[in-house]
Amino acid sequence: MAGDPPVLRPAACLVVATACCLLGARASNNPTYSVRIAGIFEESDPPALRHAFLSAVEAVNRQTTMEFVLGNAGHRPLIRAHQEVIDSADSFGAKRKACSLVEQGIAGVVGPRQSSSTDVVRSMCDRLEIPQIIVNWDPYPPPIASYQFNLHPHADFIAQALVDVLHELKWRSYTVLFHNDESLVRLRGVLQEREPSDPPVAVRQLDEDGDNRPLLKEIKQAAESRLVLDCDTDMILPVLQQAADIKLAEVYQSYLLTSLDAHTLDFTQFRLAGTNITILRLIQPESEAVMKTMQDFEYPGTEVPSTITPQTIRTETALMYDAVRVMAEALFKTSTMDWVQTQPLNCSDDSAVWDRGVSVREFIRDMRHEGISGEIKFDAEGRRMGFQLEVLELSLNGFKRVGTWTPEEGFLGTRSETQTLEETQNIIQGRHLIVSSRLGPPYLREKPQTTPPRIGNDRYEGYSMDLISQIADLLNFTFEFKLAPDGQYGSRDEKTGTWNGLVGELLAGRADLAICDLTITQERQSAVDFTMPFMTLGISILYKQPEKADPNLFSFLDPFTIDVWIYMATAYLGVSIIFFILARMAPGEWDKGHPCDPDPTELENTFNMINIFWFSTGSLMGQGCDLLPKAVSTRLIAGMWWFFTLIMIASYTANLAAFLTNSKLEAPIEGVEDLAKQTKIKYGTYAGGSTAAFFRNSNDSLYQRMWLVMKQARPDVFTAGNQEGVERVKKEKGNYAFFMESTSIEYQTALDCNLRKVGGLLDSKGYGIALQRDSPFRTAVSGAVLTLQERGNLSALKTRWWKAPEGQECAEDDGAAVDSNELGILNVGGVFFVLAFGTLGAFFVAILELLWNCRKIAVEEKITPWEALKSELKFVVQCSNDEKPVRKPPDADGDKEEEASQLQYGRLSADK
Ligand code: ASP
Repeated sequence: MAGDPPVLRPAACLVVATACCLLGARASNNPTYSVRIAGIFEESDPPALRHAFLSAVEAVNRQTTMEFVLGNAGHRPLIRAHQEVIDSADSFGAKRKACSLVEQGIAGVVGPRQSSSTDVVRSMCDRLEIPQIIVNWDPYPPPIASYQFNLHPHADFIAQALVDVLHELKWRSYTVLFHNDESLVRLRGVLQEREPSDPPVAVRQLDEDGDNRPLLKEIKQAAESRLVLDCDTDMILPVLQQAADIKLAEVYQSYLLTSLDAHTLDFTQFRLAGTNITILRLIQPESEAVMKTMQDFEYPGTEVPSTITPQTIRTETALMYDAVRVMAEALFKTSTMDWVQTQPLNCSDDSAVWDRGVSVREFIRDMRHEGISGEIKFDAEGRRMGFQLEVLELSLNGFKRVGTWTPEEGFLGTRSETQTLEETQNIIQGRHLIVSSRLGPPYLREKPQTTPPRIGNDRYEGYSMDLISQIADLLNFTFEFKLAPDGQYGSRDEKTGTWNGLVGELLAGRADLAICDLTITQERQSAVDFTMPFMTLGISILYKQPEKADPNLFSFLDPFTIDVWIYMATAYLGVSIIFFILARMAPGEWDKGHPCDPDPTELENTFNMINIFWFSTGSLMGQGCDLLPKAVSTRLIAGMWWFFTLIMIASYTANLAAFLTNSKLEAPIEGVEDLAKQTKIKYGTYAGGSTAAFFRNSNDSLYQRMWLVMKQARPDVFTAGNQEGVERVKKEKGNYAFFMESTSIEYQTALDCNLRKVGGLLDSKGYGIALQRDSPFRTAVSGAVLTLQERGNLSALKTRWWKAPEGQECAEDDGAAVDSNELGILNVGGVFFVLAFGTLGAFFVAILELLWNCRKIAVEEKITPWEALKSELKFVVQCSNDEKPVRKPPDADGDKEEEASQLQYGRLSADK
């Protein structure tokens, strides 16, 4: 189609004519002076595009007319719109049509859409110096296009904006779905700007008309939940619909749509399904500029296409309107200098150029125009600047702005932290979630059956049920429990790489949450997400209670350890020997043989070795003895010994009573080391759980060794579940120990007093609620777990479900029985010290006594004290001699020789 529509519509002409009459001379300047601009379109272009072109021309002319009326028009021309339709596949035809246009004389060209055949229009405009404005995304912008301007953001900017948005979304692994080769140009930044450590990106091509479900199914099977969808705007909804058909457009999937017109589509279905959709847009429907311009699209006599409303106007339509405005403004600016006149040009004339072209081009280049697509200005390379891309996310209430992207500043987030938090909480509100679990008390068990039979969640009870109910109350969602068909927790098959149990249910998309005593492990975390742990625990050993030991003939020895018995025997011997020495040294212990003998010749000492042993034994047995010490030193040592025996007897008696009332319990293992050292007691674990994985993957040599022993043990020591392990511990009566998690052990030992936990924890870990990978509910559920923990609800739940049934609690003293311990040297060592110090004191006193006696003898016998001491000491060391001659002063007989011999009595008697 080609042709010149009237420059002014009748109404406008009327205004102009009236204005001319009213304003006389000024209006007579040149009311019909006009220049022609060409709008080149393709047949496939939407009607809205041409409507925008014409509307803009009409609006510009209306304005010019007003300027005429006001007398401000100067040399401002009216615009005559000329539409030309070309066939993008026919470059020859396009060239011919373009040439016929310039032959008629044109001041500018708007369009066409960029395609290979339309390059001829660009080169022609460049050569003839006719400004051209295009409005579509140009995948291959020319490096230098001196007369062509594009209002659409440059391909480099779009590519960078997509990279920045992906970065902001923190997507590292995703699949790119593209439509045609041009998509790859748009996505080149996305595909190129990747870290070497980033996982590879899958790139798949969509079939425009065909069924993409098989392709989407493959993506789903690869557990991909993030997709970049690059296709024509009109293809978006059909592709998403196909994805929805195979459940690939649900709350767990996230899409980034590269089309700048995606916001014009109706996403109601996906909004309700909770699909995460992120889009970018250039046109802001709510902006004042868009609202105001809507009137311009309604000029009399034409029907406004349905796609021209603030919500549905497409980017190219808006840019077409802006393009005409920009072209007109540049022409008006040129007209301020002189009349803008077009001239017929010959395409084949190499020297032909439009003489005003340069000025118009310069005015466009330096322009700052507020269009409906935002500010319009160009950089030195002729690229559109000043625009702002809005980044929006689909929420329950429609699209929400999460940030903006500008070429100057890149991505700027506009969401506050509270907003983000609110959004994460809102996303779970009102939803109905499937909670996968497995039976295993106290976490989940079936309630007793009733008539009519229980249905739904009412069939189960337990810690998991209560926990999820409380979380659901906090976050305002409903849920439904479904048991994992295989009843497993979740482990990966080494050969096939597939997961079973609860993890498998999440991966297959059959559940939103999984809760039970599910341990958070690194391996599971690589497949699914976990919330904060709601319980912490570690692996320990479940074993039977120790049995009462057989009565022992020598159990009377139990109150003291063997060390104490040896120390006591040593003390007995030591004290007795020292007592003997002291008794020989102390003069007070030497007495007349017969009390009635007035003049004894010899003195006797009661404390010979035999008597001393008798004395010590008598005291030790608490019986006493008829021999009693008389000297200070011997009384001191005897006192100390009695003190010692008093304490020891009291301790012994007290401890013996405890031992006899609590017969000793026999515990063959006290920890994992004991278990590893022996072979009699077999040990095992649940084969499909994290406990077995702990031993399998441990680097500790002890656990590695134990894992080997478990693997080689026959019969098999692994069980199909924890309950089977518990039964086996009970049944095998001490010949089987079971590795289980401490919380489960606590529960079992509370229920059955014959079971006990042996040793400490082998590791430390936690149970968490598992969610699908990148689940949008994770933050909210984690937050709820934390809230419940802070409020003390978690510990209240634990107390509730771990309590033994009323009346079946294990007796408190069961454990106490094991606690009656022998008294060791550390318990009674102090008494030994007192005895040792007392003995030392007695020894010291004995020396004083001896010295005092020597001094007396020296005075009486008129010898030196040293001689007296020597003779006394000599006698002391003659242990076998327990009779001592009475010493007489030398002048008692007057015989000096006898006196001398008396002085030597010690030696004499020794000779005897
Ligand atoms: N709670 C464990 C798991 O999640 C089961 C176990 O190994 O005891 O696998």
